[in-house]
Amino acid sequence: MAQKKSLMQKAIDAAKKVVAKPITPKKVAKKVVAKPITPKKVAKKVVAKPITPKNSRGLKKFNSYKPKANESYMNKSQIKHFVKILNDWKLELSSDIDRTVSHMQDELTAYADPNDRASQESDMALELRNRDRERKLIKKIDGTLLNIGNDEYGYCNVCGEEIGLNRLLARPTATLCIDCKTLDEIREKQMAK
Ligand SMILES: [Zn+2]
Repeated sequence: MAQKKSLMQKAIDAAKKVVAKPITPKKVAKKVVAKPITPKKVAKKVVAKPITPKNSRGLKKFNSYKPKANESYMNKSQIKHFVKILNDWKLELSSDIDRTVSHMQDELTAYADPNDRASQESDMALELRNRDRERKLIKKIDGTLLNIGNDEYGYCNVCGEEIGLNRLLARPTATLCIDCKTLDEIREKQMAK
């Protein structure tokens, strides 16, 4: 028969239990590692923007083309010329867009000052609008190249007349002859009133 433990014994056992638990010392001080302060970029990186040559009417200047005497309208060599112009133009626009994107990523990380950022953001908004215009232009160029493939290039979308070599050399994406374009612009102005 097991002897009933006395109250005293129970108390001692209880105390032992408590004592028996080893107390692991808590780590007290975490080593504070001094964070190196990285200096913010201060100077704005000036990226030289290539200037695309424009003629007096504010249009991009394309390589000229000198047709031979008696050359037929939209013959092979004219078509070849326009395909090259349009493809080069497209490449130029695409690389512009790529450059802007990486440029803006640089700038976003460069400014911590809210004032700097604000002016920076309005610059970017303008930049984005320009790029949006370029994207639309690329679409237009693609449409023009498609027209060339379909043998529809160089003729007015409205009246079917020749748009003309000179007009196309100035505006390779033109889809209207000068008469229809003029009428179109007059109508647009009237609509705006
Ligand atoms: Zn026309």
